[in-house]
Amino acid sequence: MNPEAFRKEAHELIDWICDYRQRIEDMPVRTRVGPGDIRGALPATPPEEPEPFADVMRDLESIVVPGITQVQHPMHFGWFPSNASLASVLGDFASSGLGTLGISWESCPALTEVEEVVCDWMRQLVGLSDSWKGTIHDTASTACLTAMILAREKATDYGETRGGLQQADSPLVVYTTEEAHSSVRKAALLAGFGADNIRNVPMDPHTRAMRPDALAALIEQDQAAGAVPAMIVASVGSTGITAMDPVEDMADCARRYGIWLHVDAAMAGSAMLLPECRHLWQGVEGADSVSWNPHKWMGTILDCSLFYVRDPGHLVRVMSTNPSYLRSGEDGEVTQYRDWGIPLGRRFRALKLWFHLRLDGIGAIRRRLRDDLENARWLAEQVEAEPRWTLEAPVTLQTVCVLHRPPGLDGEALDTHTLAWVDAINRSGAAFLSPAKIGGRWIVRVSVGVEATERHHVEALWNLVRETAAGIPA
Ligand SMILES: *Cc1c(COP(=O)(O)O)cnc(C)c1O
Repeated sequence: MNPEAFRKEAHELIDWICDYRQRIEDMPVRTRVGPGDIRGALPATPPEEPEPFADVMRDLESIVVPGITQVQHPMHFGWFPSNASLASVLGDFASSGLGTLGISWESCPALTEVEEVVCDWMRQLVGLSDSWKGTIHDTASTACLTAMILAREKATDYGETRGGLQQADSPLVVYTTEEAHSSVRKAALLAGFGADNIRNVPMDPHTRAMRPDALAALIEQDQAAGAVPAMIVASVGSTGITAMDPVEDMADCARRYGIWLHVDAAMAGSAMLLPECRHLWQGVEGADSVSWNPHKWMGTILDCSLFYVRDPGHLVRVMSTNPSYLRSGEDGEVTQYRDWGIPLGRRFRALKLWFHLRLDGIGAIRRRLRDDLENARWLAEQVEAEPRWTLEAPVTLQTVCVLHRPPGLDGEALDTHTLAWVDAINRSGAAFLSPAKIGGRWIVRVSVGVEATERHHVEALWNLVRETAAGIPA
């Protein structure tokens, strides 16, 4: 494809994207396709000859779009907001169009230095001190794995340069809670800690926040048994109920016992753009690493996960390799982001944030987040005032956890009733919600925060939820 053909077809594609965003509200929120439907609609073998652009667009419309659960739909209240602001989409286009290669500072100084600058802008915007240095990873899962490896190498005094964990004298232990994201356990397993060395620290039964007294007790017990406490992961805004671990107490504990503290604020990091929410991660300055996803609630299109450390020297020592073909005269003066994580080649992801911040502006982003918080509080008030409806967790941010409790229903019968009304809503296509099992009981999460969601959508959801649940035979 030459630039002139690209010009013509790209304009068409952009028109199509604009139309798609404008008609999204008319589509079912959850896709109606079944397993294999999309695969079955595609040819089993690749095309031999180039096809007309119009044919590709036709299939995009008729095959791909029906196979999407429309997370940009204003009635999407499932999982978490996965916003894709159009300002950041422009940055993503620019990144793709430039076709840069990020393997060293020399291969694209702009890629490195724009990333340094926007990571620092984002640091300022969430109120972190200037002792943090950041980079952009694809996801919070990668950030957590990186942090696990940093903790492992700190606890073993760079065991990777010797026999690694295969020669470690004592097991290294990770502390988190059952409420933590599944990526925390996955990272611990991949970093070689082993399932036997992951401790689920007891939680406050109401808030599902880690109990710091229980953390200290487990650490002492492990030390007494000859193990090495190596890593504590604090969840600031858990996926289930937006539980907030007590970061300040955990940081004290980490300091006292010399343990790495990672703060996983993948979802709730966006809230820290609002000064009034920052008490929720009080003590974060005592952590060793922090990650959060602008690609969730804030709305910089996937993938864009910020990862900050206090000691980049340690990070680089653990992650660096110096192949001769990447040597350059500026080594030593510049940041080599290949030494800040796992991949060598990186995309120009910083442009997404740069465009997003410059074109939407932080003021508008903050106003939207505050509206979402207000909408969630409004919904929580309605739930509390309604007979037979209960709030199942404190509403710390924009997720409201609810149950409909018809008289006489509990235990498994209540779970069956809950899943029945949620499934009915999701099947209808009118809205989408994701239930979750919390402490052994199914509850329904209403995650407010899609960029297009306004108060009237939340009102419509509340009506829909009440009517649907009332119509399910108890
Ligand atoms: C979403 C989420 C993650 C995982 O995020 P990815 O970027 O998809 O890996 C981790 N932790 C928490 C608390 C989350 O909400």
